[in-house]
Amino acid sequence: MLDGYLPAKLSEALDMMAECDCIPFAGGTDLMVQHARGSGVRPCFDKTLLFVSALKELKTFDLMGKTLRIGAAVTLSELLENAATPQIFKEILRQMAAAPTRHMATLAGNICNASPAGDTLPYLYAMDAEVILQSRNETRVLPVADFITAPKRTQRKNDELLTGIRIPAAEFNVESYRKLGQRKGMSLTKASFLGLASTANGRIEDIRIALGSVAPHIVRSRKIESKLTGKNIKDIPGILQELQKDYSALIRPIDDARSTAAYRKQVSLRLIRDFLINCMLKKIP
Ligand SMILES: Cc1cc2nc3c(=O)[nH]c(=O)nc-3n(C[C@H](O)[C@H](O)[C@H](O)COP(=O)(O)OP(=O)(O)OC[C@H]3O[C@@H](n4cnc5c(N)ncnc54)[C@H](O)[C@@H]3O)c2cc1C
Repeated sequence: MLDGYLPAKLSEALDMMAECDCIPFAGGTDLMVQHARGSGVRPCFDKTLLFVSALKELKTFDLMGKTLRIGAAVTLSELLENAATPQIFKEILRQMAAAPTRHMATLAGNICNASPAGDTLPYLYAMDAEVILQSRNETRVLPVADFITAPKRTQRKNDELLTGIRIPAAEFNVESYRKLGQRKGMSLTKASFLGLASTANGRIEDIRIALGSVAPHIVRSRKIESKLTGKNIKDIPGILQELQKDYSALIRPIDDARSTAAYRKQVSLRLIRDFLINCMLKKIP
């Protein structure tokens, strides 16, 4: 049993956020672990909880033009079941936790938790996704990459709820996602890699590379990506060393219980190489 408010409507939830110091609670899969006090003991929260997972206004999933709009109470399982969810995103979601956790956990919770190991974040950064933040008097939209300011820190104001996520559409013909953990299922990420590219006539038209768990924030560099855009794929091996040096400066992992900094760095640079050489060269007609 947990104490908290269960608002019937979004407007009620925003009133509560304005009037009391509440903790928004979606699936609770991060919050319950963070506030756990041991087996058989109820987790302890120092503020009132505001349960948002039953709010109909946040259960929406639609396409506005080519932009996917996902309500903040949509669970990872619901995203996996939806035909409009891009395949590469489904591949990422399938590797998160296990089904019972995915039935509860939300994309909004993964974003607001703001962990550099949050598995949806490399995709959201690569896709230039945005979050919608609402308070009683204001709605604002921020890129996910700006919303998250540091590990566990976001720009969310005390009276705001994240109400939705927008993911602009983009088509890629080269896609690669790798999550490295202790085992295949139910493992926290040691390092993750996402590469997306669109190629035509042997040239790179669009390329996006994002790495998780290897710096205080998700690593994505438009500057390095722009060095590759327009390039002939056959020329990549000639600039690979320079690109790896560029990424090496951005990859700043830590040693922790899951892995070592040295392993994380080495494996990330190898995944970049594998994507640029093996995945891309296969696309040359
Ligand atoms: C067994 C297990 C396995 C896991 N495996 C993975 C994994 O493989 N990869 C991974 O990335 N994560 C994993 N997680 C972590 C967690 O499941 C995810 O981060 C999940 O997406 C969190 O969503 P939630 O709805 O449960 O968030 P909650 O726990 O409800 O909330 C998380 C944070 O977001 C805030 N929040 C939630 N909704 C809103 C909102 N609408 N507006 C404002 N703030 C909000 C909360 O206040 C809190 O700070 C795992 C957790 C468990 C328990």
